[in-house]
Amino acid sequence: MEKIQELFINGEWVKPSSEEYLNKYNPSTGELYGKFAAASKEDVDRAIDAAYDAQKKWEKLTSVERSKYLYRLIDLIRQDRESLENLLMDEVGKPRKEAVQEVDGVLDQLQYYAEFARKITGDVVEGTKPERVIFQYKVPYGVVLAITPWNFPAAMIARKIGPALITGNTVVLKPSSDTPFVAGWIVEKVRQAGFPPGTVNLITGKGSVIGDYMTSHKKISVITLTGESRTGVQVMKSASSIMAKLILELGGKAPFIVWKDADLELAAKVLMWAKYWNAGQSCIAAERLYVHEDVYDKFLNLFIEKTKTLKIGEPRTSDMGPLINDQQLKKVSGFVEEAVNQGAKILYGGGKPQLPERYSKGFFYMPTILTDVKQDMRIFREEIFGPVIGAMKVGDDFDEVIELANDSDYGLASYLFTKDVSLAMKAAREIKFGELYINMPGPEATQGYHTGFRMSGQAGENSRYGVEEYVKVKNVYIDYSKDPTAGEVIPPYTD
Ligand code: NAD
Repeated sequence: MEKIQELFINGEWVKPSSEEYLNKYNPSTGELYGKFAAASKEDVDRAIDAAYDAQKKWEKLTSVERSKYLYRLIDLIRQDRESLENLLMDEVGKPRKEAVQEVDGVLDQLQYYAEFARKITGDVVEGTKPERVIFQYKVPYGVVLAITPWNFPAAMIARKIGPALITGNTVVLKPSSDTPFVAGWIVEKVRQAGFPPGTVNLITGKGSVIGDYMTSHKKISVITLTGESRTGVQVMKSASSIMAKLILELGGKAPFIVWKDADLELAAKVLMWAKYWNAGQSCIAAERLYVHEDVYDKFLNLFIEKTKTLKIGEPRTSDMGPLINDQQLKKVSGFVEEAVNQGAKILYGGGKPQLPERYSKGFFYMPTILTDVKQDMRIFREEIFGPVIGAMKVGDDFDEVIELANDSDYGLASYLFTKDVSLAMKAAREIKFGELYINMPGPEATQGYHTGFRMSGQAGENSRYGVEEYVKVKNVYIDYSKDPTAGEVIPPYTD
């Protein structure tokens, strides 16, 4: 039976006022997977109004009371996690291990935020006189619009609703049209957990109809977006009319540096993760490979040998699944064609893999390794978001390598492989990225602050800094002396 998903507004699943539905396709087979509601502006109003009204009561609860709802949600997700894992395999095409890992991440993050209940503390500051005091309260902003991508559709939702809810905000969630059902699954667990109506609402639909409308809605106070950098720019423009607080987690173009003294086996193993995790569709994916000339051939051969062992195909029995949709497939193959036209060479892969007939309409692309890539080629400047990597040989000047790495519009994750502690520390100081992984794989930890420099975004998520993004500091001044005006400059000045 065909799956159909409605909107979730004010604690209920409701039909969209337009009665319009959009199609979602299974990326492994290209077949129709289900239909989901296309919200109208009227539906957006209803969802935001519900969140706005619910917030007034939600913020009056203590954070410990709020955490109880989160713990219930965690239990419900844990009990039924296998169905979420299956959804991630079907809707995104993630291999089973990665689907399991993502659900672990969802639980880990929600747990972390629930535990924050007793850690949201303000300050008491001395006033300007002995009998004056200033209370600096950490207060919620109000309604958070959470806009999420398709590549880690469950984890990105947990990362946003967790801190928003524990701090007393309510949420309108707008997931990607490529992963509406993962979002719906989580929201259904929110319903079962008994959150007060309106605390979390789900809006799905066309960005062209509701995008700007949502992001310039006067009742929205925070917009937390994970998506492409150009989406961040659009949202920033639109949100400027309402002065919304923005948390923007955007694209990446991670440099992966392999120095001459690196443990090559380790570096190649980590690159298998950094490049092929989620078929390269990750904001922290290695996208630019800089290898020291002394070890260039040896390292690439090692990496190709490992790449050859990858089993590509449908998620349940493979190491790497498809890309998310046809558009992404065209984009990735376009990058490769253009690089080849500009002089790059395909060392391995390129094109679609040979797969059984059932998957012939799936959006699969071969793991692909290119050499002779130049710093100014588009493949080294723009986010590929696929299982494709270009390699560039670098010389003995480490300063130059750091400069090459930093020479990017993006600044999210970066990787360095060396046994030289002084080079590692130099990179730690000089690399201008939100994250540097030295001799290790990612992904980022919940207790780390995930943040990007330049076009990779502003503000950040996770860790205590991430929680702080969801609260404002409200200052309350009090004077408990007999005469609070004594010695103050208050007119009239002439007797
Ligand atoms: P996208 O920008 O196409 O879409 C992200 C979300 O924004 C979707 O829900 C989409 O419907 C919505 N959207 C698009 N235009 C909008 C508009 N004008 N107004 C309001 N909402 C709008 O991104 P995607 O393709 O879903 O995800 C992949 C991108 O996300 C990549 O660039 C990747 O690097 C980035 N990403 C970043 C992080 C991070 O933590 N920095 C994590 C995961 C993904």
